[in-house]
Amino acid sequence: MRLTVLTDNHTYIDQYYLGEPALSFYIEDEAERILFDTGYSDAALKNAALMGIDLSRLTAIIFSHGHNDHTRGLTFLWKKYDLSQVKLIAHPLVFAKRRYLGESVGAPFTKADCLAHGLQIVDGTKPIALTSRLIWLGEIPRITSFEAKTPIGEWSDETNWRKDYVMDDSALVYNGTEGLFVITGCSHSGICNILSYARSVTDTEQPIQGVIGGFHLMEENRQLDETVQFLKTNTTGTLYPCHCVCLKAKHRMMMELPVEEVGVGMKLELE
Ligand SMILES: [Zn+2]
Ligand SMILES: [Zn+2]
Repeated sequence: MRLTVLTDNHTYIDQYYLGEPALSFYIEDEAERILFDTGYSDAALKNAALMGIDLSRLTAIIFSHGHNDHTRGLTFLWKKYDLSQVKLIAHPLVFAKRRYLGESVGAPFTKADCLAHGLQIVDGTKPIALTSRLIWLGEIPRITSFEAKTPIGEWSDETNWRKDYVMDDSALVYNGTEGLFVITGCSHSGICNILSYARSVTDTEQPIQGVIGGFHLMEENRQLDETVQFLKTNTTGTLYPCHCVCLKAKHRMMMELPVEEVGVGMKLELE
């Protein structure tokens, strides 16, 4: 499995890719060529072209959740490419209207728009095996006492606005030869909940070798303390926190765990 960071909040010095407060990873495994989140703008498309990655050959697009920093890039993708052979794995709530502090923060398209562009929509509520080793987790059971307790604005079921706990939020797990490797978008469902469920879905005694993606740790609080303890107990390799992890949370993790800096253009290869 090879993962390339197409867009993230961070860029590296002397590498002239575009960064944005958003996330998009390109993942190749067996015959699958997957776009995991699309970012906010066309930055992921432009960066992919600079990196020599041909997005016209995608087999699947997966949305970690519906927030527009993970989904809006699709509107640039379908202007440029024929997506009629591409499956779109998305929890039904990805398409919900969302608002936060008066701003619209949901996906800027409907399910009907996706169908009109030829995408084959696959319900992402339950786990889905994408290859022999790569699994989409589907809805994450929320079991910890310290995560996913604060709503992020509201979502609309077309009748009422409801508190938004981003129930669509999920992640991928790669069941590699050296352990599990988890790939997250924003971890609104809680990074510890995600890692626990990755273990349960893969049903292995494998350690969690590493994690890349947003951990949604934005301040110093009990959630950060508990998360660092959980990661120390449950992970064996390197962590790659990015996107929605503040500097103080990264610093805290670095004091106690192996952490690497993520930036646009970074590649990871796992067996
Ligand atoms: Zn989000
Ligand atoms: Zn995000």
